[in-house]
Formats: sequence, structure tokens, C-alpha cells
Amino acid sequence: MSAPLVRFDKVSVVFGGTVRALQDVSLELDKGDILGLVGESGSGKTTLCRVLIGLTPPTSGSVTLGAQSVAQQLREQPLAFRRRVQMLLQDAVASLSPRMTIGRTLAEPIAIHQLPEAQARDRLRAIMDRLGLPQDVLGKFPHQISGGQARRVGVARALVMQPEVIVADEPTAGLDVSVQGELLNLMLDLQREFALTYLLVSHNLNVIRRVTQRTAVMYLGQIVEEAPTAALFERPAHPYAAALLSTNPAIDPARRARRIVLQGEIPSVVNPPSGCRFHTRCPVAQPRCAVEEPALVELGEARRVRCHFPYSLDRAR
Ligand code: SF4
Repeated sequence: MSAPLVRFDKVSVVFGGTVRALQDVSLELDKGDILGLVGESGSGKTTLCRVLIGLTPPTSGSVTLGAQSVAQQLREQPLAFRRRVQMLLQDAVASLSPRMTIGRTLAEPIAIHQLPEAQARDRLRAIMDRLGLPQDVLGKFPHQISGGQARRVGVARALVMQPEVIVADEPTAGLDVSVQGELLNLMLDLQREFALTYLLVSHNLNVIRRVTQRTAVMYLGQIVEEAPTAALFERPAHPYAAALLSTNPAIDPARRARRIVLQGEIPSVVNPPSGCRFHTRCPVAQPRCAVEEPALVELGEARRVRCHFPYSLDRAR
């Protein structure tokens, strides 16, 4: 088996000595994978994305991209590393400078990375065609293009660097359903065409279900369940994953009727609960859960679960 393209190995991130934003996160992405990350705000999803793009260094553990750690690549070849991993931003319009034409915005990374100009221009033209962006967009300012076009400009800006990995944090937030569908189709086409690898964060469970192959569910800085997406949505094993997914309007009405409503807010990462971090809200917690932290263990079906009493995968739905 070939080595994974991206490997998080026991990554922890602690801010200011007390805020444990990530705790012991291990994850792998093979080339061409689309991995979804879900969890409430404050679960560590965005921190994990920032670790991969090199904006937040791990306090312990390491992240590798290809054969070398991200930290080493940032030290030795920062520009080359920044080409390999690109971020798709949530607010595409706000990320475009209002005083620069789209053409200048797209030319900027080409200049910074000193890509051969003629080649980069040809590539940009091909990408714009592929994205259905008319060439006259290049002469326009951000306020003169539509929201959908602005998203595509964001994608073009990422792709012109020929990245291997795209980190997409809520890429469809705020889009209406048809533009959302277009963007997702585009992401899938590009993944097939260029064997791109995606780490995709979304609160929209339909988006996750539609485009990802695997999903990791996060709670208070930890992965609590990771599984093939279809299997996870069908039968979540971790009580938190089950509660989160039961809010998805796309699941069948019988299961929706059994929707699990979580009590209370997500606790603070400054002072997480003892034992299992989810025990203060878990509908099936036992006394052991408050004192003994569960490990993330394999549970068959390429699934990992962090729970002393996971739901059975054989249960009737
Ligand atoms: Fe619930 Fe206990 Fe499992 Fe934690 S370990 S999710 S509290 S059953």
C-alpha cells in the first residue's frame, strides 16, 4: 500500500497554555480522498484546517504532506509548500480586494510564486473555461460580478497553483441551493480530473453526505468517530455522532422522529469534562464515562469510535 498523502499523527494544539483546541488527532488522507469534518462550533475543525495549511503549528504531534512534515517544508521551502495546499475561503467576495480587478487578483499568486508567465496564463485561461468564467471577468472589479462567479474566481485562484490538497472551510455557506449544487459538482469534477484531495468542513450535513467518501466527527478537539460517509450516516456508532446526524433533514422521517436533542451547550475547551468529554451531554452515559477517557478504537467497517458503549452496528434501524 502506498503511503497516505496527508497524515496527522497525534496532533494536539494548546493555545495560551490552557485552551486545548485539538487533542491527539490522528487522520490520514490518500491522494484523491474527500474527507469531511463535522461537529459543532468549537469542536476544533477550523484549527485542524489551519494546522494543515501551516497557519497554526501543532503543540505536539506532527502533520506530514508527502514525505516530509509540514513544519520542515515551511522552514525549507515555504513557497513550494504554499502551492501544494490551497484554501477555499468561505466568503469568496470578501476575500477579493475591492480595488483590484479580477485579472490582477488572479495574476498575483502567479507573480509571488514566480511561475513561468506564459504557461501560467495558458493555465489560467484553461481553468476559467473549465469553470465557465467568461474571459471578460478579468477586467471587472469584485462588485461587478455575481456571488457565484466570485466563488469560481476563488476556485480559479486556488487551482492556478496546481495544488495537491484543497482545504475547504464551509465553501457553500451562504449560497443558494442551485449555486451550492453547481459548486459541489465542480469540486467533484475537479477531484476526478486532477486527483485533488479535499479536506471539507461543513455544517451542512447534506453537503458532507453528497460529496465526501469518509467523515470524521469532532467533539471538543477530539475525533469521536471516523467512518465511510454512507455507513456513518446509516448507522452512527458514537452517541454524539448519532445526535448530530439525527438533525439532518435528509434522513428518513422515521429516524428523524427519533431525533436526539442534545442538552446544554458544548463545554469549554479550557476546562473539558473529565473522562469522556461528551459525558455531560450523552444520553447513554454510565458512571464509568465520567472517570475513564475512552480511546479511539477500530470497530470494523474501516470505522474508529471513541466510546465505552458505542451503539451496535447490527441494531435494527
Ligand atoms: Fe456516552 Fe460514555 Fe460513550 Fe462518552 S463513553 S459517548 S459518555 S457512552
